[in-house]
Amino acid sequence: METDFDVIVIGAGGAGMTAAITAAENGARVLVVDAARRTGGTTAMSTGTIYAAGTSLQRQKGIDDTPDAAFNYIMTLNQYRADASLIRTFCDRGAAALDWLMSIGVEYRVEHVYIAGVDTVARGHRAAHFGAAVAEGLDREMHARGVTLSLKTRVQKLHRNNSGAIAGIEVEGEIITSRAVIVATGGFGADRELMARYYPDAAKQGEGLVYTGSETNKGDGLRMGLDAGATLTGFNCGLLQVSAGFRREQDSYLPGWLLYVNRDGIRFVRETAQYAVMEGVVKAQVGGDCIAIFDEEARAASKVITTYKPLFAGWVADLLLEYVREGTLLRADTLEELAERSGVRADALMTTVDLYNADCDAAYDSHFFKDKSYLKPVRKPPFYAARIRPCVVVATATGLRIDRHARVLDAANRPVPGLFAAGEATGGVITERYFAGGISIANNVIFGRIAGENAAAPA
Ligand SMILES: Cc1cc2nc3c(=O)[nH]c(=O)nc-3n(C[C@H](O)[C@H](O)[C@H](O)COP(=O)(O)OP(=O)(O)OC[C@H]3O[C@@H](n4cnc5c(N)ncnc54)[C@H](O)[C@@H]3O)c2cc1C
Repeated sequence: METDFDVIVIGAGGAGMTAAITAAENGARVLVVDAARRTGGTTAMSTGTIYAAGTSLQRQKGIDDTPDAAFNYIMTLNQYRADASLIRTFCDRGAAALDWLMSIGVEYRVEHVYIAGVDTVARGHRAAHFGAAVAEGLDREMHARGVTLSLKTRVQKLHRNNSGAIAGIEVEGEIITSRAVIVATGGFGADRELMARYYPDAAKQGEGLVYTGSETNKGDGLRMGLDAGATLTGFNCGLLQVSAGFRREQDSYLPGWLLYVNRDGIRFVRETAQYAVMEGVVKAQVGGDCIAIFDEEARAASKVITTYKPLFAGWVADLLLEYVREGTLLRADTLEELAERSGVRADALMTTVDLYNADCDAAYDSHFFKDKSYLKPVRKPPFYAARIRPCVVVATATGLRIDRHARVLDAANRPVPGLFAAGEATGGVITERYFAGGISIANNVIFGRIAGENAAAPA
């Protein structure tokens, strides 16, 4: 293999392949290295939703939206505790990112534009054939652009030239030089040590923690960046989905008919609230605990629902009985006993259940206004209780601090010469609140494009 390129990209997921294609489009000779056997990373395992405002598909659907409206929404939701210039870039370039994905053959359809956040505007655009098709489209384009690809190559060291700039990588003692390096190594969900250091709210779930992304995402980009003088941002941020953890990830979509209470026996949320907010709401309860309650009638009727994929696969009537036998689901003949065994205040639970049942009978949720189709009374014994925890790691958001040009910044706020980054390996775009489904893929494509353009510039 050649040992000198214009641009080296570490990681062939969504961000890395986007950056590589863009650098090649801009005339650079590009090498992409990936630790895995195939390209795609977590991007290939994702739903492929991209969040963007003011898009051509929104217009076709009659949705009047602008990047400005998205910017105001995101900054307000985050109480302005977010890097405004990154968020502005994210909002301004979202529509172009979607158009670009479509231009390289990734299919998005008007009917798959949906409300993906806690906002009221449909900004989620789901890829017709999910994340696998996004990754395939990028892989195809990358090959068409003549990018050199080296798989099963884990990079753990950056190379510096005599003037201290990042000027390549070192792999198994061999130096491959370049004018710029783009770190696109994804998150660090597969590394327990970094999870404990940078995402303690997730790590405290211990053995119950479930990671659903690429196993090769061990945070190497963060470690290499720190060695090169980079700084990190976004401590304890990411996306954790709540789950009963019966059997690892299979039950991470929870049925809307559950009744959630905290240790005080009080209902505290609409059980169908967006997954983007559920982690924070559960975390704010006494002891960070949420107990899902249901009765025998709900159990017996529980079945898989198939939309674009099977949902509630772990919440099937027979399986629920297996969890009781395995000890992960509590069952009791009375609500008092259920409360005692699950550590919930019994008298308050009785009041909560009475109020909830009255709302179910009236087909009107007078407390959290959940759709009436999800209202199932808790009346017929035996009763069940499952502990719901934010334990499914979908994305981590502590990462290399970049500016809007995708340059990695040091502690003095100066770009580390020669070093760029994009995607989940960076922090700053995904903030305290994971504001909507689709923001990670958008982050990949938007900052992957910017990193590719700027890294190729000297070439
Ligand atoms: C089940 C699931 C569904 C999701 N659905 C969505 C969705 O619909 N929309 C959305 O926006 N987000 C979604 N996400 C999150 C999103 O998929 C990821 O955050 C995003 O795809 C990350 O892209 P990336 O390019 O930064 O990293 P990845 O796609 O993970 O790519 C990183 C690559 O870097 C490689 N790598 C790592 N370390 C090294 C090293 N040292 N040397 C060489 N290579 C290395 C890895 O092998 C990997 O191929 C989902 C996540 C999951 C788990």
